[in-house]
Amino acid sequence: MDRILVIDDSAVQAQFLCSVLKDDYEVTTCNTAQEGLQLVREGDFSLVLLDVIMPDMDGFAVLKELKAAEQTRYIPVILLTSLADVQYEERGLLLGAVDYVAKPFNPVIIRARVNTHIQLYHYQKEFRQQATIDGLTGVANRRFYEREADARWREAIRFGLPFSVCMLDIDKFKIYNDTFGHQAGDHVISSVAKTASAFFQRSTDLFARYGGEEFVAVFAGNSAEAAFAFMKTVRQAVEGLHIPHDPSVNPWVTISAGGVTLMPRQGDEYQSYLKMADTMLYDAKRFGRNQVVWSNGGREQWREKP
Ligand code: GH3
Ligand code: MG
Ligand code: MG
Repeated sequence: MDRILVIDDSAVQAQFLCSVLKDDYEVTTCNTAQEGLQLVREGDFSLVLLDVIMPDMDGFAVLKELKAAEQTRYIPVILLTSLADVQYEERGLLLGAVDYVAKPFNPVIIRARVNTHIQLYHYQKEFRQQATIDGLTGVANRRFYEREADARWREAIRFGLPFSVCMLDIDKFKIYNDTFGHQAGDHVISSVAKTASAFFQRSTDLFARYGGEEFVAVFAGNSAEAAFAFMKTVRQAVEGLHIPHDPSVNPWVTISAGGVTLMPRQGDEYQSYLKMADTMLYDAKRFGRNQVVWSNGGREQWREKP
């Protein structure tokens, strides 16, 4: 069942909307803008009904915040208003609200509009998932990676080339978000992606956003030592951006990377390589972050900071 969030400082109004929609949707209500923002970020909502006039923060400000963050940008927002004034409607629509409903509410109209926008939301979501570029960073998305990685790996087998897989993850990023806000966090993810992806220029290279603040890189032809040295350069470039972090944690935003280089053989599974890379990333975090840890699939391990 799709989830709907109602943000309205009037509990009576919120309750009314809930009663209108609760047969078809799982409805959550809250009475302050702050709580509403928190709930949208945490929950998997398909639509938000948002009151324009609230005491702590007006609906337009909430809308702006929702539209500014990648995580919440695509959730349709319908504004609730008693202001018949055209200028408010215009402002809301320009800020990215999909629709308006005016008080007093008509249950039939509300249900119809909500149904339409939830349906559109699902179409749009499907469409976005079929695309291959990550919206925030402009690098390949997870879907493209899933489709391509296996093919690259098979190619390496065919040409008898050593094959490398690397997982990259921004260090202490939760703290970054908590300190500077989600929007600033999005900006960092984008900067890190641009800087790191610029190193992967060969036609056989693949660099993608794996999810959240994690990236994956796949490349062929380098020895384990060369791949390790190469990823060290990538890591240093990110550190060299000198993006200030929370000073109590780190002076700059940094990444940790873990990877493996192997001669792929018929019968191996690509997923087992990815798993090794993930284990190396885990080691890089464990050994203190801002470093690369590499494996050749055997006993040997390369570390930046032994
Ligand atoms: P570690 O050094 O161990 O990797 O710590 P961490 O805090 O980076 O790792 P953790 O997995 O605990 O937290 C990742 C954080 O990344 C949590 C989440 O809020 C944030 N994040 C994930 N995706 C996004 C996004 O798209 N935008 C923003 N701004 N933050 C995101
Ligand atoms: Mg992290
Ligand atoms: Mg992570």
